[in-house]
Amino acid sequence: MIIVLKPHTSEEDKKKLLERIESLGLKPMISQGVERTIIGVIGEEDVLRVQPLEAFPGVEKVIPVLAPYKLVSREFRPENTVINIKGTEIGGNRISLMAGPCAIESRESFMAIAQAVKKCGVNILRGGAFKPRTSPYSFQGMGEDGLKIMHDVGGELGMITVTEVMDPRDIELIQKYVDVLQIGARNMQNFNLLKEVGKTSKPVILKRGMMSTIKEFLMSAEYILNEGNFQVILCERGIRTFETYTRNTLDINAVPAIKQLSHLPVIVDPSHATGRWGLVEPASLASVAAGADGLLIEVHTHPEEAVSDGPQSLTPKNFFRLVGRVQSIAAAVGRKV
Ligand code: PEP
Ligand code: MN
Repeated sequence: MIIVLKPHTSEEDKKKLLERIESLGLKPMISQGVERTIIGVIGEEDVLRVQPLEAFPGVEKVIPVLAPYKLVSREFRPENTVINIKGTEIGGNRISLMAGPCAIESRESFMAIAQAVKKCGVNILRGGAFKPRTSPYSFQGMGEDGLKIMHDVGGELGMITVTEVMDPRDIELIQKYVDVLQIGARNMQNFNLLKEVGKTSKPVILKRGMMSTIKEFLMSAEYILNEGNFQVILCERGIRTFETYTRNTLDINAVPAIKQLSHLPVIVDPSHATGRWGLVEPASLASVAAGADGLLIEVHTHPEEAVSDGPQSLTPKNFFRLVGRVQSIAAAVGRKV
């Protein structure tokens, strides 16, 4: 349920209302917009049928939210959420470019890739230190050594860093080294992990599970917001279909659909969505045209030598070309890169 307050409601009236909501065993979550204050009420709402809140001074209207997600919904926050990370905004007019290798492989190669993407105008650097691999015999990531490399390279080049967290036990460690926590597709419904990242103050990139519906995706985001962390970026990264030519099928519909349903920023990972470097650029252009707020792209200076996901990694040269073309599409839809 959502309670819309009248403009200029006094702090006193607001306080009384919040106290009443809490006394009913419900949790009020406040969304402070430019013009309006909206209170989301979380919990067993049935008690409100006998305790109507409409009568409270300051309450303009009470709207039931039919969708199962509340805090992530547009009803709760009509304006777009813009996440500010060290002065860089995600979800605003600018398209955010995030790039780097699938995995951090060594200090030298990570630095070379970071410098290459930075030259293309990217200031958000990705790279996995804990890798979710299908086979236990595949490279599992450099762990803490990789985090240290990410921290040093990011610091030296003045870039924002993103890495995946797979286990709640690693959150404390990862937080010390990086700026943004990524929840991978395979962990989208790892609810304990979602709750734990929800307790941190770090922005979170939540990737869509490869077999998840849009509704399930938004419910997973709801877990993070429900813990108090509203800095969530949703990432469409392709879903499994009967098609095998591509690694996954980019669900382009999901971009405008989620933008309509939720106030959270939506980005696209065209690398995992296609699995083929030759499709990454067109998938990126389509994503920006469809309203994506950013792109998360795998880049490697030597894709043929990459320990993971080489076939979908762009060379710096191809990435440079992509950025130029993304700029044109962004301009066509009234945005900037
Ligand atoms: C990744 O971004 O490195 C990754 C493993 O992606 P996903 O979780 O989408 O498969
Ligand atoms: Mn990868």
